[in-house]
Amino acid sequence: EVKRDPKIQIARLKLPILGEEQRVMELINENEFLIVAGETGSGKTTQIPQFLYEAGYASTKMIAVTEPRRVATVAMAARVGYELGLSSKEVSYLMRFEGNVGKETKIKFMTDGVLLKEIQSDFLLSKYSVVIIDEAHERSVYTDILLGLLSRIVPLRRKRGSPLRLIIMSATLRIEDFTENTRLFKTPPPVIKIESRQFPVTVHFNKHTYSDYLKEAYKKAVKIHTRLPEGGILIFVTGQQEVHYLVRKLRTSFPYKKNVDYSKLIQKKRPTLTETEQALDSEPEDIESDDDEVEKEMKRMRKARRKMRQKHKELPKINLDDYDMPEDDGQADLVDDNDDQDSEGHLSDSDAEDDTLTAAIKNCRQPLWVLPLYSMLGSSKQARVFQPAPVGARLCVVSTDVAETSLTIPAIKYVVDTGKKKMRVYDHVTGASAWRVVWTSQASAEQRSGRAGRTAPGHAYRLYSSAVFQHDCVEQYPPDICRRPPDHLTLTMKCMGIDKVVNFPFPTAPDRMQLRLAEQRLEVLGLLERHQSKAKRSDDEDVLKVTALGRAVSAFPLLPRYGKLLALSHQPALLPYSVALVAALSVPEVMSGKPDSWPATGHLLLLGDPGVLLRAVGAAEHAHLKGEEELFCAKYGLREKAVEEIRKLRKQLSSEIKLCVPNAVTSLGDARAVDDSQARLLRQLVLTALGDQVATKIQLHEVKEGEDKRKYKYAYHCANMEEPVHLHSESILRKVIPEWVVYQELYETGSEERRKMVMRHVTAIEPEWLPVYVPK
Ligand code: ADP
Ligand code: MG
Repeated sequence: EVKRDPKIQIARLKLPILGEEQRVMELINENEFLIVAGETGSGKTTQIPQFLYEAGYASTKMIAVTEPRRVATVAMAARVGYELGLSSKEVSYLMRFEGNVGKETKIKFMTDGVLLKEIQSDFLLSKYSVVIIDEAHERSVYTDILLGLLSRIVPLRRKRGSPLRLIIMSATLRIEDFTENTRLFKTPPPVIKIESRQFPVTVHFNKHTYSDYLKEAYKKAVKIHTRLPEGGILIFVTGQQEVHYLVRKLRTSFPYKKNVDYSKLIQKKRPTLTETEQALDSEPEDIESDDDEVEKEMKRMRKARRKMRQKHKELPKINLDDYDMPEDDGQADLVDDNDDQDSEGHLSDSDAEDDTLTAAIKNCRQPLWVLPLYSMLGSSKQARVFQPAPVGARLCVVSTDVAETSLTIPAIKYVVDTGKKKMRVYDHVTGASAWRVVWTSQASAEQRSGRAGRTAPGHAYRLYSSAVFQHDCVEQYPPDICRRPPDHLTLTMKCMGIDKVVNFPFPTAPDRMQLRLAEQRLEVLGLLERHQSKAKRSDDEDVLKVTALGRAVSAFPLLPRYGKLLALSHQPALLPYSVALVAALSVPEVMSGKPDSWPATGHLLLLGDPGVLLRAVGAAEHAHLKGEEELFCAKYGLREKAVEEIRKLRKQLSSEIKLCVPNAVTSLGDARAVDDSQARLLRQLVLTALGDQVATKIQLHEVKEGEDKRKYKYAYHCANMEEPVHLHSESILRKVIPEWVVYQELYETGSEERRKMVMRHVTAIEPEWLPVYVPK
């Protein structure tokens, strides 16, 4: 009953998965679980939902497809609807803050987080006949949790007489995690591998690895465009700002002008270079082969290029003062964001090589059709990467890793890979996470290169050396669920109603001991509470369920102890301080000077080292607003990089807090200096977060006869440690030596025989506060 446009039908038939329709459908009909593994671009995401639709899986219930990335959710819903000749009412998408799902929806694309939410209100997922977990190889935390849950939901649905099918779709990576995990699937599900035609891709490494990878990417794109035969270019960078930066730079270098007829360019096309010439087109630094060979090839290349330039002279002139950019922009402001490290300076053309580039750019008459691609890009702009470039122009897509496996861009012949990506990295003490640029895994590098060989042989230029590939790139990153701090993971899962986190059938399980310890900590903090197990079997332990406070705390992207601190400071308007405090506690070695620069009395003094940090950060912020940060940091012994890092973290925490508490005031700029009563509340808040890390002063009469009493001047008892712990030598609390303190962390100093344990970031507390915060 599906009537497809013949053009679509022809395009579909070229996809390797079409030949497997019957086999795929037989396996789905006969099995509850199925794994479909196939190269990126083989047609998994766009075709399998259509197979299911045509086989009647959407007649009474819906087909669900989950994606870890927003960009794919929108794009794939649109594509599948279009191929089926259905409207967005029938093939729809849903993600946080956005969607078009309605009563008539048959196929529903959604982010994995959305399906997880649905499970919380309808555990059996009764609206669906089949769930497709797409891009399972990405191993997002939500995807992994979904797989664990679905492995249990599917048998339950069978018992209820209303079967549910689960299809796991993945690139051909690490399938064993699903098939060889008997906790997840007792009998391994059948795997269907989609073989697809992949043309050879020649991989070129740079000889040197330059830190300015954006500049390198720009230069490489210029070289490809000015010297190499037709074929689209795909450039991988790490984030939205880098995408915009390169897009703008390349558009300025090779402008596309609407009212010029570029078709002439096609008739006067440059001579096509042979494959070897292409391979060697790179500058000598890129080549890892015999030097003589290279020299010979280079000569031939230069000759070919001279010929090319000759031809170019005959091409129409473009007035560079009057060019159009593809109607996009208004994005320039994004690029100029204060946080953007990629300021203009990067690509200042100075050396001789850059002169040649400038000349090449000048001589090149062919426009480059440069398009951005990243996860948060609007859907109409996303769609443009699938359309061919205008006649005469060359397609160039600048993308984040979404083009790695989620979206396949047609007609790419050259891949330029910076080798970098952004990854969430967690601080081990506060659990605050920050996005860091890191080397991609070797597996990602292979995926990226593969994008060049979809329709013809291609080339991948890695802008780093093969030594970096071998020594600095891990084979594969561990799944996110194993990288996330266990406390936050445990709390998140408890909030989803998953009570037995330790026994959960994870595709790859985090360390069980760590999960148990995390549960204990969460109970002490009052974020979990003990409930008697319903099944009164003797071997059954009590279950720990989330408390109301725990639920509030889980919204904060922090270790729960600090999330609690923030959740409790919303009411008395302490958020600006506690955000700054948590950010400052996450960054190491903020100041080197003595705390004497930050004198205090009363509660502010008793707030201790965190108080010093807080005042230093507040003052630095004011200096920053006046443009005097550098001087300020130098004067007070603050590490400028640390202060910047703290500012970034504060911004990030603030924006994540505002997602759950929209009217929260978090900016330090608006806050006055902490006063005495606020400092008292902050002391209590610090205690709520560190209530399991209390220490009490060792009294001098406790010191054994014959021991040097002076050694115990700053010594404390702490709960889980035999030996004494000490106030840090630069702790502001040495002035007070309070009876009761909490500390952020313990560490060891001194040589082996004079080893001692020292408390970092100490706050004085009042013993009468304790019973409230430390359950027995
Ligand atoms: P897989 O999921 O196996 O990686 P896809 O189903 O995403 O593969 O892609 C199959 C083909 O469909 C690719 O060649 C891709 O370029 C093409 N395609 C996907 N979306 C669009 C679109 N919006 N317009 C044109 N072609 C598209
Ligand atoms: Mg796909």
